[in-house]
Amino acid sequence: MHQLLRKIPAIHELQQDQSFLTLLETNDVSKGKLTEWLQEAVSDLRNDILAGNFQTEDDVNPLSDIVFSKLSERLSHHSTYQLRRVINGTGTVLHTNLGRARLSDQAVKQVVETAFSYSNLEYNLKQGKRGSRHDLIEELVKEITGAEAAMVVNNNAAAVYLVLKALAKGKEVIVSRGELVEIGGSFRVSSIMEESGATLVEVGTTNKTHLYDYEDAISEETVMMMKVHTSNFKVIGFTKEVSVAELRPLAQTHNVILYEDLGSGAIYDLKKDGIGNEPTVSEALKKGADIVTFSGDKLLGGPQAGVIAGKKEWIDRLKKHQLARVLRVDKMTLAALEATLKAYVNEDSVREELPTLRAILLKKDEVASRIEEFTRKLSSHWRTNVKSDVSQVGGGTMPDVELDTLLLLLSCENHTAQSLHNKLRSGEPAVVSRIINDQIAFDFRTIETHEFEDLHKRLKEFE
Ligand SMILES: *Cc1c(COP(=O)(O)O)cnc(C)c1O
Repeated sequence: MHQLLRKIPAIHELQQDQSFLTLLETNDVSKGKLTEWLQEAVSDLRNDILAGNFQTEDDVNPLSDIVFSKLSERLSHHSTYQLRRVINGTGTVLHTNLGRARLSDQAVKQVVETAFSYSNLEYNLKQGKRGSRHDLIEELVKEITGAEAAMVVNNNAAAVYLVLKALAKGKEVIVSRGELVEIGGSFRVSSIMEESGATLVEVGTTNKTHLYDYEDAISEETVMMMKVHTSNFKVIGFTKEVSVAELRPLAQTHNVILYEDLGSGAIYDLKKDGIGNEPTVSEALKKGADIVTFSGDKLLGGPQAGVIAGKKEWIDRLKKHQLARVLRVDKMTLAALEATLKAYVNEDSVREELPTLRAILLKKDEVASRIEEFTRKLSSHWRTNVKSDVSQVGGGTMPDVELDTLLLLLSCENHTAQSLHNKLRSGEPAVVSRIINDQIAFDFRTIETHEFEDLHKRLKEFE
């Protein structure tokens, strides 16, 4: 054993080895850092030997080879991040697996600046004393939604939980059976209700719920009527749901809170562009919801967050609840959210400024121009085809909406579509595509021109 230990070359010898010099040259790492890892690799090997984990046949390799293979492994972990950039060729705008909304340039700038410096996160600069992080975006939410008050938590699931826990624990909440939805990732309205300690009172049936169903269910114990926007599926045919506007008088008479979980949180009215039928936040509030909650990274087009907006009386209660501290958001989220919300102050420029809206509103002929520009610089190695198709909004929003689009289909001599698809996924940057008729397919709705160079570079690997 000791003989083996003695066979390990000294650090200064290993540093002269061609393998060390090559690793140093081909990686973005300093000599000091690489030497530190070299020492770790040697000590690792030494421990292996001492622990008797060292197989005798390993003996065939010079020990320096073993050290360098450990060192390379260490380096490969260093050079690629686990969370990486992806070029989204699927056409699904709010792809939940690919991080939902991408942020606007301005939002990214704000995040970087806030992360890089100290900030007035909880400091009132005017008065020179402690401030509240809620104040940072509250005025803006009020301005663009018409709400009396607002606050932000980690995501919309957290918002739903906080509302139920803080305002309905130990009391009854009436929900239509048609709205008892599961929103993916095991988030069910019924389970979150149970978790919050509120009692769920189901009314109506899956396809039809009437105003009298709510009326009949109201008791001494009722504190809230909850509407859940069924954003990820659609019941068609013989259906009836009761709107917030219809429920308003009932809520008034019986003094119960009318709460609507909007899910997507549209601030820009896509209906005006003929896309979908998503209620905006201000519409829901105008029709009489006391409280609404919605996601920051769905149709809003910002960071992961849950916005709670509505009557000041209730929002103040929520802000004071213990859970508000548990569910609070980070300064980077607030920075991104503020910049995203600010974009909505100007109704015309918001369509261009926010990548989510830009992608949803992209016309088929604009997708065609993108494809044309992209293929102009593509080598003749590739066979190309263009095919009409539809893109999805994604993120469980507007499942019935189909956005007309075009796909670029690519194939080449020596690679199957499947192998292209797999290899594109694993390089830098990763590219996610689809396979259609033995060709790889890219929906250019979600590939912007600034990504063309990288995509060309990735495709060149197969030429
Ligand atoms: C998406 C969604 C949620 C969950 O929102 P997250 O921001 O993903 O936590 C809750 N309710 C509805 C109706 C939704 O559509």
